[in-house]
Amino acid sequence: SSNLYQAFRAAFPADLEATAVETDAGQFYTWRDLERGSAMLANFLQSLNLPEGARIAAQVDKSVEALMLYLATLRAGFVFLPLNMAYQSAEMAYFIGDAEPAVVVCSAQNFGWVSKLAFQAGTPWVFTLNDDRTGSLLNRAAHAPDQHPPATRHADDLAVLIYTSGTTGRSKGAMLTHGNMLSNALVLQEYWAWRSAEQGGDVLIHALPIFHVHGLFVAIHGALINGSKMIWLTRFDPKAVLQALPRATVFMGVPTLYVRLLAEPGLTAELCSHMRLFISGSAPLLMETFQTWQTRTGHTILERYGMSETIMLTSNPYTGERRGGSVGAPLPGVQLRIVNQRDEPVPAGDIGDIQVKGPSVFAGYWRMPEKTAQEFTGGGYFKTGDVGRQDADGYVTIVGRSKDLIISGGYNVYPAELESFINDLPGVLESAVVGVPHADFGEVGVAVVVPRPGAQLDAARILAQLKASVANYKVPKQCFVVPELPRNAMGKVQKNQLRTQYVVPPS
Ligand code: ATP
Ligand code: MG
Repeated sequence: SSNLYQAFRAAFPADLEATAVETDAGQFYTWRDLERGSAMLANFLQSLNLPEGARIAAQVDKSVEALMLYLATLRAGFVFLPLNMAYQSAEMAYFIGDAEPAVVVCSAQNFGWVSKLAFQAGTPWVFTLNDDRTGSLLNRAAHAPDQHPPATRHADDLAVLIYTSGTTGRSKGAMLTHGNMLSNALVLQEYWAWRSAEQGGDVLIHALPIFHVHGLFVAIHGALINGSKMIWLTRFDPKAVLQALPRATVFMGVPTLYVRLLAEPGLTAELCSHMRLFISGSAPLLMETFQTWQTRTGHTILERYGMSETIMLTSNPYTGERRGGSVGAPLPGVQLRIVNQRDEPVPAGDIGDIQVKGPSVFAGYWRMPEKTAQEFTGGGYFKTGDVGRQDADGYVTIVGRSKDLIISGGYNVYPAELESFINDLPGVLESAVVGVPHADFGEVGVAVVVPRPGAQLDAARILAQLKASVANYKVPKQCFVVPELPRNAMGKVQKNQLRTQYVVPPS
């Protein structure tokens, strides 16, 4: 059987009384706790007589019990559907209506409105789970046996339905199989040189949300497939991370987490001397963050790239050059190519659309056969929607998303090129360049720029500096100086929002 839980279970250390998860509330969960807790929940789910392939949706706060619910779902052979706690009724109505879960688990606080939506959509079961080990789910499972043989699953059986972050439009349900996730976990275990117990083992600081690929798959799978302990922070708190660093070896974060850690004067090379690896992904890591981190801590952040539909695709190497601004080379088993508008590969170094093939590429979008067909080429490559280039030595650099590409007067303008230029100007913290409709040019660029704390920026001056440095057709028509960029829960800049917020009057 290829049940993902079984693969995790096989990697548990021999001593099941050792700590698997240590929480910021001072609780210690052993490997046996994970094994027993997930068995009880799996037995409970099975007692509900759910149909084959039933979705178990969870909109709950981060907790070890929520992790056990995920493991139990895998174990029982059902399909896990994680949902962001930030989603309100309009979003939840869409997800529940689209996924038609058989079970919805929510916080007691949200039970009123979530259960109403669920029952309207025909969901037979709604339970509660809170972050303090209370709720009807645990009460009900408390009576279930604590032994459970994992359901037989094949590599291509569905394990998770995960919705994309909704950065470029409405979130789509990506169907991931047991085989997708296991193959990716094993590749990363080796690629990032996770240490065996004999080599001293690893300890992961888990500070990410668990409704997304990064926190759920890359981080949790990484620790579990290696039998490694996690230091579990229910929410990101830079001071708590600082406290955990001397006892940990691996940290994973989105770029904003690194920025927030750098704002802590206590972050020093000495504090990080026990650490083995810092990994970043989900959004572009600014060169400045990459360099400042190196100077402050002596560690070079390893940046990698992936998406909900494919899990991890490329990574900078563990040994060898970790190149700032690049997401590294395709992982073993991943075929990656850069193509032009006609799906023809372009020469090394040229910019084009990123397409991929490999064992971690998903089984398709949930109930969107046409969309799925559209996003694969005849040759079976998945169109990532990201634009980038691959240098002759294999390193890939992402320059943006195809939906963010600006076509101004017939010319392609790559926002990332202008953003990196603007970011290098004195007094600039960060920036986003977006295309907005324009009567004459079809689209024109608008720059939205955030100053460093205390710095004064002059929008006209920024545009003048751009004019002096890049081709005129690339220069944004307007520049706005704002206190911060809108970001979603994963730290991704919401360019959709910027596009509707900033309109350029016809010239
Ligand atoms: P949606 O598909 O709903 O618009 P989304 O693409 O943001 O949202 P995710 O699947 O969570 O949803 O994110 C994947 C995307 O994140 C990638 O396609 C890529 O654009 C971006 N990304 C991930 N890692 C990196 C990275 N290291 N550098 C730059 N971008 C990255
Ligand atoms: Mg996407």
